[in-house]
Parts: sequence; structure tokens; C-alpha cells
Amino acid sequence: TMANHLPTAELQALDAAHHLHPFTNGHELAQKGARVIKSAKGVWLKDSDGNEIIDGMAGLWCVNIGYGRDELADVAARQMRELPYYNTFFQTTHAPALMLARKLAELAPGDLNHVFFSTGGSDANDTNIRLVRTYWAEKGQPERNVIISRWNAYHGSTIGGTSLGGMKGMHGQGGLPIPGIEFIDQPNWWVEGGDTAPEEFGLERARQLEAKINEIGPDKVAAFIGEPVQGAGGVIVPPETYWPEIQRICDQYGIVLITDEVICGFGRTGNWFGSQTFGIRPDIMTMAKGLSSGYQPIGASVVSDEIAQVLSGTDFNHGYTYSGHPVAAAVALENLRILEEENIVGHVQNVAAPYLKQKWEGLLDHPLVGEAKIAGMMASVALTPDKAARAPFASDPGVVGQICRDRCFANNVIMRHVGDRMIISPPLVITPDEIDILIDRARLSLDECLAQLEADGLNRAA
Ligand code: PLP
Repeated sequence: TMANHLPTAELQALDAAHHLHPFTNGHELAQKGARVIKSAKGVWLKDSDGNEIIDGMAGLWCVNIGYGRDELADVAARQMRELPYYNTFFQTTHAPALMLARKLAELAPGDLNHVFFSTGGSDANDTNIRLVRTYWAEKGQPERNVIISRWNAYHGSTIGGTSLGGMKGMHGQGGLPIPGIEFIDQPNWWVEGGDTAPEEFGLERARQLEAKINEIGPDKVAAFIGEPVQGAGGVIVPPETYWPEIQRICDQYGIVLITDEVICGFGRTGNWFGSQTFGIRPDIMTMAKGLSSGYQPIGASVVSDEIAQVLSGTDFNHGYTYSGHPVAAAVALENLRILEEENIVGHVQNVAAPYLKQKWEGLLDHPLVGEAKIAGMMASVALTPDKAARAPFASDPGVVGQICRDRCFANNVIMRHVGDRMIISPPLVITPDEIDILIDRARLSLDECLAQLEADGLNRAA
């Protein structure tokens, strides 16, 4: 379809002439040329040179049910013919939006029964900022407007999403964060844990929230936001002690707890939501990605009965043209039907995640791998020249990760690097045989990376 028949070089030239890529270094792109993906099925991508690539990232952590499900295409075409668009502003609705809202209320735990739609995770988090501040204002506490987040968190790339996120390199571009966002440290034991045992470190990091609340003033704090497992920050699986202590603190100070389930939601961690895996009882959840398995752009903020009740007392002057878009909502519903009827969360829990865990932790015998972490179907390894010292490389952070990522690319497996951590988040439908292929290619890439580091003299600790 489209220009898929053109030769790779021609597609690359057109791309270079006109297409600005997200999160991309222009020089590097010009040197290497963009890799052109033509089609996909299951966990496999096909590029314009005919390579068959195993997608260890499910696109951008989103294609939970795998590629090429005709049912979603059929639903989209049917919905486009019947009602391609109508909005949900003021007093209108339509079946796809209301049915999806009802379904999400059923799937979400506790009394998270009310859904505000967006087009992705970033703008859902923008919604959360405005929603939670409006909520406190309606309750007569407008001074409760500070939202506490964590360094290295990723909550999106809009002004609001970037502000809530804790990526300093992103804050630096565009004069962010907006006022009223504060940060505590992340629970990354490998890098920051020092001699402290992981469980103790988890408690210490959680208690930074309490300290920050008291520093700001408990009557000024509106909410805390966190990903159950920090994803784009490097798949940082927190110590078991971490979330229960965060929950205790939010309860004690009456602070709204927002879990950003954009990656962790819809089976990724082995339950429907990461909050369930980690025993969190959020007041608001952010959802996107796996909500439609990436087949359509859609996101949601799902809020508790109490928050919805308070909000209903005012005009909430907020919304997007595509809030509850009928085609996106219909596709999301079909995706959820497949997740449920094919018991894909059960496949993760009983088959895929235990097998991946065994294979992933098997990488610990590799000379470069210092730490292997996994939560369901998201996993990371820390690369190090010295495991015992948990030492970073002497090179700038990310140099080694990039070498490894490029080796993966060459070996037809998609893995990402975050600094010198390698991460995966494959489609949930991946089979044990495909996991074997993924791990074999990952190991081969690690071997080649090590050989290159030794040849280049880069395999040294800082
Ligand atoms: N929140 C989290 C936890 C994410 O991982 C992402 C995207 O990776 C977002 C929000 C932003 O979502 P989107 O890119 O759909 O705007």
C-alpha cells in the first residue's frame, strides 16, 4: 500500500527531506538512514529490505495483542461507515464511547468508575493535572495544587506530560516544568542504592514523599503520580516495600494517588493493571497504549466515584475534539474483547511471563549483565563492566547502550536502551518459541557488543 513498493533508498531520501522524527538525533538519522517498516504480523515486523524482525518492544510498549488482527480492521471500517466522527462535548454521546467507558469501569479496580477520554497518554496526563486541581478547588481547597512526581519518570511529551515527567533533558527544552510540580528520587536500587538493602532502600525512597509533603505543606499537595514500574526510565521495578509505603503516605495525608498505567495497563505486568500487581489503590489511573493495542490513538483518565461526584458540581472546561472518538473507541472495545476472550492476561501470567523470567534472568551469566529485572512482560538488564561494584562504564552514559541497541537492530531484534540499560516489552501474545528467538538474538547482540567494547577499549569502569 501507499509507497511501500518504492526501493528503500528512495523512501529514506523522501523521509530525510520532509519528516521530522520524534526523540531523534537528526545527524545520526542522516548518517544511518531510517529503517522502513512495511508490514507486521503477530510479534514480527517486516522492513523494506525483507528482514524479519522480532519486535521486543511491541512498537512503543503498546501492541499488546500483537500485529495483524483483522477483527480490529473490520470494526474500524464498519464504524467509519456508520459514524466516522462525532464529539462527546456538552450533552452528546454515542455508543462506542459509552460502551468503552462502561467496559473500563468494569475492568478498573475499586470504585474507578468514570472515564474521561483523550487521544493518548500525554494528553490524558494533561487532563489529570487540570482535573485534580479543579477537584481540590471545588472542595474549597484551591491552594492544594502541587503535584509530586519522580525524577526519571515519563508521563508524556506535551507541556503537561513533560512537566509531570522527571526527564531533565526534556525539561531543558521549552522551559519546563510548569509551576507546581515537585519531584522525589526514583527507586532505582542498581544505580542509587549504595550499600542499602533493596527493601530498606524502597522504604527510604517512598519516605521521600512524606518528607516532600511536609516540606511543601500537607495542605498544599494535590496529588502524587507514578508509573507502577517506571518504563521509559529504564524498566525500574521497585523493591516490594516501595508501593505499600507510598500508599500509606497518600492515605495518611489525604492526597490523590494517580497511577500512570499507560505502559503497565492491559496485562503488561501479569494483571489487568500494574496497580493490582503492586497492591496500589489509586484514585485516578492514566491509560493509553494497550487500551487499543496501538491500533488507534486513544487514552483515558479513569477516576473514582468521589472525584467524579465533586467534578460534576462544576463546568470542567476541558476536552479534546477526539475525546471518545468513535472509531478509536470501537477498536479499543474490540481489543479488550480479544484480550478477555483469548485470556491473554492469563497467557501472560501462566505461560509467557514465567518463561520470559527464566530466560531473562539467564542473561545474568553474561559478562556485561549486572542486574536483570522483570515484571510480567516488561524487563531490563543493567550493562556494567564490573558487576560486583555495580560500576558504570567510563564512557558517557548511553554510549554502550547505544552500541548494544545497534547490534540488536543488526540482528533483527528490537530492544531499546535507556542509558546503559537494555529493555524489552514484547507483545503479550509472544509464544515460548518466539521468546527463545528473542533471547538468542539478545544474547548474540550482547556478545557482539562485548567484542566491540573490548576492541574499542571501552569496557572499563568509571
Ligand atoms: N505515560 C507513560 C507511563 C508512558 O510510557 C507514555 C508513553 O510512553 C506516556 C504517558 C505518553 O503517552 P503518549 O505517547 O500516548 O502521549
